[in-house]
Amino acid sequence: MPTNWEAALREAGLRVTRPRLAVLDALEAEPHAEADDIVRRVEAALGQTSPQTVYGVLAALEASDLVRRIDLPGNAWRYETRVADNHHHLVCRSCGRVEDVDCVVGAAPCLTPGDTHGFTVEAADVVFSGLCPDCSPLPSDPHDQPTRKDTDD
Ligand SMILES: [Zn+2]
Ligand SMILES: [Zn+2]
Repeated sequence: MPTNWEAALREAGLRVTRPRLAVLDALEAEPHAEADDIVRRVEAALGQTSPQTVYGVLAALEASDLVRRIDLPGNAWRYETRVADNHHHLVCRSCGRVEDVDCVVGAAPCLTPGDTHGFTVEAADVVFSGLCPDCSPLPSDPHDQPTRKDTDD
C-alpha cells in the first residue's frame, strides 16, 4: 500500500509541495536511489526541476526523518524512505546493487559494541559488502528459488 505522503509531510510539520511529494514518490519507486536518479525521476514527474531543488528537498526530508541517507563506501549518497527500523545494507562492490538486510532486533541500536567507550549508542549501521549473484563468478544455485507461501484464498 502506498504511503500517504501528504499526511506524513504534515505530520512532520512540513508544507506539502509538489517537489517534496515527487521526491518521496521517486524514493518509494526506487529505494536506495542516488540523488542523481531522484533528480531524473522528479524531472520526469514534474516536467522540470533542478538538482538544487531536489537536494534541498532531500535535506529537509532527512532532517524530518522522512528519509534516511545511506552512506555506502565507494558510492554516492543514497536515500530511502524506510526509516522506522535499524536495518542494514548489503552492497555489491562490482555493480553497486544495494539490498536491505533486516536486523534481528529491528530497533536501534540492534548491535552493541564490545566496548562503547562510554558512548550512549543510538544506532548501528552495518554495511555488508561483496559480490551480488550477477557479479559472482560462481554459478547461482538453481535450488535457490524464492518460495511463496502466501496462499490467501
Ligand atoms: Zn553486482
Ligand atoms: Zn535500506
